Amino acid sequence: MTQSRLGSIFRRMKHVGVIGAGAAGLCAARHILANQGMVPIVWEQSEKVGGTWNFTPQTGTDKHGLPIHSSMYQNLKTNLPKEVMAFPDFPFPEGDESFLHHSQVQKYLEIYTEHFDLYPYIKFSHHVEEVKPIIKDSGPPSWSIKVKDLNSGEFSTTVCDALLVCNGHYSIPRVPVIKDIENFKGSQIHSHNYREPSPYTGNRVVVLGASASGLDIMLELAPYAKEVLLSHNLPVAIPSDLPSNVRQVRGVVAASENGFIFGDGTSAEADIILYCTGYEYTFPFLTKECNVTIEDNVVKPLYKHLIHSTFPSLAFIGIPFQICPFPLFDFQVRLCTKVLCGELILPSKKEMDSDSEKEYEYRSSIGLPRRHFHKMGRLHWQYSDSIAQEAGLEPMTSAVKTLFDTVHRVRRGSLMTYKKRRFRIVNPEFYEEVI
Ligand code: FAD
Repeated sequence: MTQSRLGSIFRRMKHVGVIGAGAAGLCAARHILANQGMVPIVWEQSEKVGGTWNFTPQTGTDKHGLPIHSSMYQNLKTNLPKEVMAFPDFPFPEGDESFLHHSQVQKYLEIYTEHFDLYPYIKFSHHVEEVKPIIKDSGPPSWSIKVKDLNSGEFSTTVCDALLVCNGHYSIPRVPVIKDIENFKGSQIHSHNYREPSPYTGNRVVVLGASASGLDIMLELAPYAKEVLLSHNLPVAIPSDLPSNVRQVRGVVAASENGFIFGDGTSAEADIILYCTGYEYTFPFLTKECNVTIEDNVVKPLYKHLIHSTFPSLAFIGIPFQICPFPLFDFQVRLCTKVLCGELILPSKKEMDSDSEKEYEYRSSIGLPRRHFHKMGRLHWQYSDSIAQEAGLEPMTSAVKTLFDTVHRVRRGSLMTYKKRRFRIVNPEFYEEVI
């Protein structure tokens, strides 16, 4: 089929399904609604918007027997200032602090939902169970979505012209295999189930992993624990002042009954290991016919980490990590809505797949392992600019980019103090620090 024909088919799009009412799903609903003739149908398994910001002290399963989704902990403050976290068209409410408690982000998402009048389009307590493509003779497939009403237990099926998957990817813990871990007599917990530091009082805790959660939780535990061993394989030690009972050690290579052996051959006794080792991508509702695979942490076949190259009426918002999340969701969603309303014609499948292949090759040429394909880090602005360019949008402002980069740069050197800093966006070009 020619691309112009594909464009005219997309122009007739009406119902766009959205799985999840976290930041990504809300942003999707907001931009779908802004397009004349398109209506979102959002299914959300919980009773509230907010996704991972919807804190619960509970761990394990919820009252419906579903795994608890949120990974928030009681005292979490954002590791990005609100001035860069906000959606580009919706600033956080004015306030003194830049680094907010999670409850303020939850409130922000609730206000966003009200402001854009999204509540009528969200079906709460509705769990998406099964998604199947309805292949047509021509054009992209429609989608059959089977949903369970968690309160009544009833199932229903809806057919949508397109589907945006916004189910989040910070819920299903990834736990590394550690040699002899079965011998360890202490406790093991993943950061997904961490809620507050007091249960760790007097314990010797190994925090495995020194990404955002590992560093933050290490600082929370220090005033309570007897000792915190921050175990990681970063090329250099974290260059920050740390509490006096925190010691940096190499990555864990094996367990014993009472402790762990580290990569440099040293060992230490420990009562608890707290895995801050990340999460898995999972889409348990996608049937085989959806043709989506996850190999070595890479979701395929996605064009620009976003659009299914075989079935372009299916897209995944928020797959990349180490990004500036809400603004990137906004760009990704606006690219998708432009495609769905026929304003933007995608390249052919062959071209889209070749684009992904080139990206694999580029990443491997600069030494990035394949399993980090969706990790943006220093490639973040390059990626975000490419999405903006493809969608015909203004790129992220210099003020947001430089503030994000500054925080990123200073964070590791001042872990104990950086969240006290306050910033202000002066204009699209500049930000300033508020002293
Ligand atoms: P989620 O927020 O996870 O939302 C997904 C939604 O989908 C949930 O509501 C879930 O219930 C629903 N859902 C899933 N499966 C189904 C189904 N089958 N049927 C129906 N509904 C379903 N970002 C920042 O910008 N700043 C920070 O400081 C920051 N700190 C973070 C700290 C932690 C501990 C974590 C885990 C993440 C943090 N993030 C931070 C990243 C954060 O994940 C993103 O900002 C963003 O909120 C992710 O939104 P999402 O919509 O993609 O996913």
